[in-house]
Amino acid sequence: AKAQGKGRQVAYTDAMDQRSAEQARLAADLRVALDTGQLHLAYQPIVSMPDGSMVAVEALVRWTHPSRGPIPPGVFVPAAEHTGLIVPLGAWILEEACEQAARWRSVPGAPPKVSVNVSARQLREAGFAEEVAAVLRRTGLPAGALTVEVTETAVFDGGQALVELEAIADLGVHIALDDFGTGHSSLGLLRTCPAHVIKIDKSFVDDVTSDGQEAVVVAALIQICDGMGLAAVAEGVETAEQAAELHRLGYRYAQGYYFARPMPAADIAFYEHPIAA
Ligand code: C2E
Ligand code: CA
Ligand code: CA
Ligand code: CA
Repeated sequence: AKAQGKGRQVAYTDAMDQRSAEQARLAADLRVALDTGQLHLAYQPIVSMPDGSMVAVEALVRWTHPSRGPIPPGVFVPAAEHTGLIVPLGAWILEEACEQAARWRSVPGAPPKVSVNVSARQLREAGFAEEVAAVLRRTGLPAGALTVEVTETAVFDGGQALVELEAIADLGVHIALDDFGTGHSSLGLLRTCPAHVIKIDKSFVDDVTSDGQEAVVVAALIQICDGMGLAAVAEGVETAEQAAELHRLGYRYAQGYYFARPMPAADIAFYEHPIAA
């Protein structure tokens, strides 16, 4: 049994090594990608219900690897976080999204606000809020036109994250809590974190049209948000039925394939909502 245990330990370590080797390889390619323009941002409309008009967009990073083709952010963002490359990568994403949003301000039909994902690692860097302020100055984007999306793990990562978040909120930038409800103490977070927007995770939205107990959570969350003066965005809305039910429950904002998929910046001003006016 001892030998077997040891064997399992070796196999486990090998798998870990392989995973970090793969992450290191990805991160090395990603560093090149960042310098050679292989990355771009896609934008997904965040809409108001019931009409589906665009109130903001979320910036989502995209990478087309020269030999491997498109690699999803769910794969390379964790690698970038693991190696620390997320710090320069995240800085590029923030600047690019703010530049684009500033340009959109003079384009009819373009969104008035942009929401940018920020990783725990970025938030933990002292001076991150100053970097945000500098990007706003350079791009000329008003602070109120930027929302920073953070996850619960990012905020609970330590004191510095909260310090930076408070400073970002003081600039007039809005804070959104991403994937809300998936963490261990989402509700507790609402007391400590300076949030303006709650993004209700897709896993709850998936259940909203079921007759089971699950739908109760979605109904309760909008009551909490309303009571606390927070805007709630339902994430991952894929069907007209889900949108209708969310609206019936009191949700005003949504994001998901039913309304629009993430798209190139050039297509955003042509977004047409699926509901006839
Ligand atoms: P997220 O921040 O929760 O982003 C929402 C994800 O859900 C996006 O996947 C989006 O394309 C997808 N989505 C939107 N509507 C629907 C829907 O109706 N159905 C389904 N099935 N999916 C939908 P994406 O772009 O692949 O990004 C995955 C994750 O990677 C993001 O989750 C975020 O955690 C991370 N990520 C993406 N871009 C960035 C970035 O610029 N910076 C950082 N730090 N992380 C990013
Ligand atoms: Ca997000
Ligand atoms: Ca999310
Ligand atoms: Ca997510």
